[in-house]
Amino acid sequence: MQKQLSERINKLETSATLAMAAKARELKAEGKNIIGLSLGEPDFNTPDFIKEAAIQAINDNYNSYTPVDGYAELKEAVIEKFKRDNNLTYDASQIVVSTGAKQSLANVAMVMLNAGDEVILPCPYWVSYKDIVKIAEGIPVEVKTSIENDFKMTPNQLEAAITPKTKMLWFSSPCNPSGSLYSKEELRALADVLQKHPQIIVVSDEIYEHINFVEGHASMAEFEDMYDRTVTVNGVSKAFAMTGWRIGYIGAPSYIARACNKIQGQITSGANCIAQRATITALKAPVSKIKYMIDKFKERRTLILDLLSEVEGFKCNQPEGAFYVFPNVSALFGKTFKGTKIENATDLSMYLLEEAQVATVTGEAFGNPDCIRISYAASEENIKNAIAQIKEALS
Ligand code: PMP
Ligand code: GLU
Repeated sequence: MQKQLSERINKLETSATLAMAAKARELKAEGKNIIGLSLGEPDFNTPDFIKEAAIQAINDNYNSYTPVDGYAELKEAVIEKFKRDNNLTYDASQIVVSTGAKQSLANVAMVMLNAGDEVILPCPYWVSYKDIVKIAEGIPVEVKTSIENDFKMTPNQLEAAITPKTKMLWFSSPCNPSGSLYSKEELRALADVLQKHPQIIVVSDEIYEHINFVEGHASMAEFEDMYDRTVTVNGVSKAFAMTGWRIGYIGAPSYIARACNKIQGQITSGANCIAQRATITALKAPVSKIKYMIDKFKERRTLILDLLSEVEGFKCNQPEGAFYVFPNVSALFGKTFKGTKIENATDLSMYLLEEAQVATVTGEAFGNPDCIRISYAASEENIKNAIAQIKEALS
């Protein structure tokens, strides 16, 4: 039979993070002892107080279709959270709850972009940004950054990337994959450039907000002149160890929120009822309740940076948030290990999977082909063993 998939799907890349995680699972099932540091997923269980809220919701018969943009009580909890943590004032017409921040991002792309609209993506960007933009027929415009500048885009670089076709800027802070964090001053400097280009809408992905080791999270929408042009994306996957529950949300200008509600109503409807009830409890809890996880991530960051400093050819920045290191490994390109020539980060990542039995993700997927991403959302033991195995495989 003739295979007749759409051009849209044929042009799309498979998510590299999910593909690597699937490959690692496959190898594990074959009996190989793979240490998975590819997927950005906390290794903690969802806290008990959140699980109890979900059990309560089942017993209380929360089983019907939910409002497309989320339960009113959840939207209220999101509004309080934005006020408490980010000093952002939204009303209910500006909030849309979705099946994960990934869906929130896809909604925004679908409702904002026309074919040919350009979207500026500072590199490294989170893996799915580029393909979500492409699904919406937008054109990703990559802005290369360097480890010397902590992988952050400068105002001059932003200015140089803007054209009459630029419609949006998408970035995450703390950044997946670099762990970099834009300070309030750095965001202001980018906002100053955007002032000259009022047509540009910003997506500020703050899903790692609480996984911050230096205090002081800054939101683009905090600036009065950016508030009406910024979509703030967040979710419970990372900070609350709720990746599988699939709840994300946005705070946005009402006209964008309304449009997201419209598209979601045609594609998935409202997010899962039990997960939404659990999220009300998660968001209302003081941040101190999840601090034990943040403290652990911070310890592991120190551990992995120490261990990697002894791996020849790996050059790291000091990530200030999220749970990834993004070493520049270009010093290893051109070398041959056990008969395998390493030409690029993808080769290295595959070599480490096969020889060191450690799953990482190639930086190619994040728009930076000199780096690989290693997640340290893993036990100390796994981190120690993984880096020892990497060292051995490269020795
Ligand atoms: N944005 C960033 C930067 C991420 O790392 C992730 C990870 N999954 C997401 C969005 C999507 O999160 P989720 O769909 O699990 O809410
Ligand atoms: N955001 C995580 C990551 O970057 C989860 C995987 C995904 O959703 O693609 O690994």
